[in-house]
This record gives sequence, structure tokens and C-alpha cells, in this order.
Amino acid sequence: MSEKIEKINFPFRKHLQNFIPYSSARDEFVSNGQKYTFLDANENPFENDEKNRYPEVMHDELREKIVEVKTSQFSCHLEKNNIILGNGSDELIDLLIRIFCEPKVDSICISSPTFGMYGVSANVNNVNVIDISLNSRTFELDDIVVDKILLSDNTCVTIENQNNIKLLFLCHPNNPTGNIISEKRLLKILDNFSGMVVVDEAYIDFSSEHSTLKFLQKYPKLIVLQTFSKMWGLAGVRCGKAFAHPDVITMLQAVKDPYNVNMLTARAVNDALNNKSTIYQKRNIILAQKLYLEDECKKLTISENPIFSEVYPSHCNSILVRLVPELDSDIMYEKLKNKGIVVRNFGKKQFLENCLRISVGTPEENFRVVEILRNI
Ligand SMILES: *Cc1c(COP(=O)(O)O)cnc(C)c1O
Repeated sequence: MSEKIEKINFPFRKHLQNFIPYSSARDEFVSNGQKYTFLDANENPFENDEKNRYPEVMHDELREKIVEVKTSQFSCHLEKNNIILGNGSDELIDLLIRIFCEPKVDSICISSPTFGMYGVSANVNNVNVIDISLNSRTFELDDIVVDKILLSDNTCVTIENQNNIKLLFLCHPNNPTGNIISEKRLLKILDNFSGMVVVDEAYIDFSSEHSTLKFLQKYPKLIVLQTFSKMWGLAGVRCGKAFAHPDVITMLQAVKDPYNVNMLTARAVNDALNNKSTIYQKRNIILAQKLYLEDECKKLTISENPIFSEVYPSHCNSILVRLVPELDSDIMYEKLKNKGIVVRNFGKKQFLENCLRISVGTPEENFRVVEILRNI
């Protein structure tokens, strides 16, 4: 049987199509198992737990280990060339914009309210942002939103009004609203949208919903972002991952800073992957604690003196609440702060008026925040 090799023309920026990346000393060196003296990278030769050496550029072993975990976790088939690591997913969001979007010409599409970095990264790169907001009541990416997204797509607008949307950012589950995108609607987008579709799954490990990784083979336009910052407990270590078609990964590898993932980060991630069971145990505590927080917050919507009007169901490790109109989120934020509790105040954001987002803490922390809320 002859293998069908599909050549896909990805909409990379023109000037990158023949781009030759920087080749580092460690890139050029190919080991044949011998013991070497490294005099190729102007490093300090005095050994210091390998910290005197430049880190790996590709992180092949680590990438292999991660795809193994993912392949078993989400029953999808992935290979090393389907993944790139970044200095947090924040770096990967920026890299995606930089490889696909021509400044001042192309656009990204987002659905507010959502994670702020997509818009910020686009702004930094002088790339236009088209915002097709979510359903303002339920925060769902409902059929109307899906149709509006597809209508704004470049294939559907006239030449004079070209949006040139190269990237659509979908957050699943969505931060800060906590909800997910239905598979049916995601597939409608994947079947019809002409640009690249980025699904940010920073919180997928907290959700009972399936990852979109299983669609990666079928849809070359799909890019899935995940991170070690949330369930894996490594926000300070900075490691994000993008899963995509090998050609997209190759372009990202070419454009990235060669040493974007340092050796301390790689070690910490490797350790975490070796201790999966401890991490899953902690996740289960967080999930149980989320139910506790959610229940207690719901009680505060129906008590004698209700403080919340809405407690939004969440697939993340956080809960979005809306205060009753008599209360003000700025004041509530300050009150909590005075008691030593810091939550996220979205009070001034469109669609999130008077809303706070409370992250799930340890059992003690959650008990304390509930006590304080009850007595406010
Ligand atoms: C926290 C978060 C990230 C993670 O960013 P890192 O740079 O990997 O820490 C990405 N996307 C969303 C939606 C998030 O909430």
C-alpha cells in the first residue's frame, strides 16, 4: 500500500515560507554515543549540574514522553512531531500570531468574554482583533455565535471588507466563564472555517469533557494548546504545549527562540510526568473542593441576604459569581482583600459586570473564604 502524502498549504506569512532559522551549536552537533568535550558553544566549561550548558532546542525525549501520556489519556494518536513546547502557552499564542498574521493586514478572531492574552498578543503584533462575543447571558458559544464567526470568515465577505482572519481562538473550557464548547458546534466550525482554529485547553484536565486532540488527525487546521500551569501545578516553571500538524510544528520550531524552554523547566516537567498519580490525587481534591465552593456559593444566592445573583457552572478550577445589584464587585473585592483573600475582579469587563472569579484553593482556604462570604 502506498502512503498518501497530503501536501497542505498552510496560510503562513509570506516572508516565512523560505525562512532559514538560526542554527545553534547544539543543533548542528549529532551525537554518536561517544564521550565528547564540548568546545562549540562558548559555555563556561566548569560543570555545575549541567547548568553551565545550553539547554536542548527540541526537547525530543520530553516531547515523546508527553505525547505518550496524552495518547493514553485522550485515546488519540499523536507523535513527537505533533507537539512543540513553549515558555508557557503565552509564548505559543504569540508565536502562532507571528507565523500566521501579517501585521495591519490579517486578523485574529476571539469570543469575549475570554482569556485576555489572545487580544494582548495580537495588539503587540499590530494584528487586528475581531471579537464575536459569546451569548451574553449564558456565555455559550451557541449556534448564533457560530454562524456569526463563520460569516466573518474571509471566504464569506466581499473583497472591500476582507477580514483576513487567519486564526480563531476558542477557549475550551473557557476562562473566566468556565463553560465548554459543544462538540457539534466545534465540528461545524472545523468543517467550515477557512483559517486556523486554535482550541486553548488550559483547563481540560479539570473537565469531564473530551479534549479536541482526537480531531487533530482529521483537521490539519486544528491547533490545540495545553499547559503545565494549571492541573500540573507548575505555573512558576513556565511550560506550555501546542499540538498541531507537523508542518505547523516545524514552522513554530523555526521561529521560536532556540532556548525557549530551559533545563530547569524541562527537569521540573519531567519530574511531574514521573509523578502523575500524586498530581491526579491533588486534582481530585480540587474537583471535590470546587463542588463544595459551588454549593456554598449557591446557598448564598437564596439565603435571607443573598450576595450572589448567579453562580456559573464551571469546568475549570475556578468559579465565576455575579453579585446581586445592591452589591458592588469593587467593594466586595476590597472587603475580601482586607480579610486577606485575593480573588479576580471582572466588575468593569463587558458582559462580566459585577462578577468575581474565585479560584479553588486548599480545603482550608476554601472553608475560610466561605466563612468570610457568609459573614459579609
Ligand atoms: C492560565 C491559562 C493559560 C496558561 O498560560 P501559561 O502561559 O501556560 O501559564 C492559557 N490559556 C488560558 C485560557 C489560561 O487561563
